[in-house]
Amino acid sequence: MKAHLLDGQILANEILIALRDDVERLQEQDVYPCLAVCLVGEDPASEIYVRHKQRACEKVGIRSVSIRLSAKATTHEIMDFVKDWNEDPNVHGILVQLPLPEHVDRYTILSAIDPRKDVDGFHPANVGSIPHGRAYHKPCTPQGIQTLLSHYGVDLDGKNVIIVNRSIVVGQPLALMLGQPLALMLVQDEVHANATVTIAHDHTRNLPALTRKADVVIVAVGRRPEFVLTADMVKRDAVVVDVGINRIAGKVIGDVDFEAVRRIAAWITPCPGGVGPLTIATLLQNTVQAARLLNVKPLF
Ligand code: NAP
Repeated sequence: MKAHLLDGQILANEILIALRDDVERLQEQDVYPCLAVCLVGEDPASEIYVRHKQRACEKVGIRSVSIRLSAKATTHEIMDFVKDWNEDPNVHGILVQLPLPEHVDRYTILSAIDPRKDVDGFHPANVGSIPHGRAYHKPCTPQGIQTLLSHYGVDLDGKNVIIVNRSIVVGQPLALMLGQPLALMLVQDEVHANATVTIAHDHTRNLPALTRKADVVIVAVGRRPEFVLTADMVKRDAVVVDVGINRIAGKVIGDVDFEAVRRIAAWITPCPGGVGPLTIATLLQNTVQAARLLNVKPLF
């Protein structure tokens, strides 16, 4: 028996269709959702991501503006753009593509973004508000993973989840989200959580022993061949989510030995076509949400 696919592409397409309607409804109120993107340096992967994000914006009618700065740009120079976009009523979402060059202070840049416009969800106020159930926006990849698992009805309640990653982009916010009590979530969210979460990383000892115990294994390492999630690291009927991106011989592959692991697991994400499309769909959802937040008066 092969695992069922957690198909992110199909779900992302559905989300984009719904967003198109949301954008049209905002446009009827003279609100034109707009995402501003800052790309620093010439990292080829970042250039591809930014292009994909802008194309997805076009598909749903979200405007996008972008600025491209040299790899030598200073923290202050980047901040100047962020501050201008914070003040610009026509800009609803601000995204500074990570990673930034080493000399740039990532924390200062992310903290400078208006939290309501922080559609990547990395502002400390947004990350720190996750356990309170009050973040304006949650980080796109963790939110996308939670949406994917919820959509396919993967029950997380009381389950052991291991996340092999501890970055602010994936592991840290995802652990907060999947371990959250449902009472802290909006009723309309219909998300699955309440898991018991372990975070693993490069210093974790005997990782296979931990992954083998987990009901859900989420990997985001991106260091093939040094790290590959193999079939002997997964227990039967586990759920496996592959976030990793490895470019090998011109092909994109994940962190999971897909063909072998799909014979053991109950559910598995393809890669590509799993988490990636949902990361982008979530960014667009956050941008539309930001446009609403900044423009539409609450009913009560
Ligand atoms: P990162 O900051 O480099 O995180 C990598 C994580 O893997 C770190 O926590 C690291 O541990 C851990 N790690 C490295 N080698 C390991 C090993 N041998 N055993 C166990 N853990 C190990 O990168 P990131 O930004 O979080 O991204 C991670 C991966 O996900 C990349 O491939 C990235 O391209 C991909 N990604 C995909 C999407 C998507 O939408 N599909 C979105 C975001 C990221 P330490 O903390 O100890 O270094």
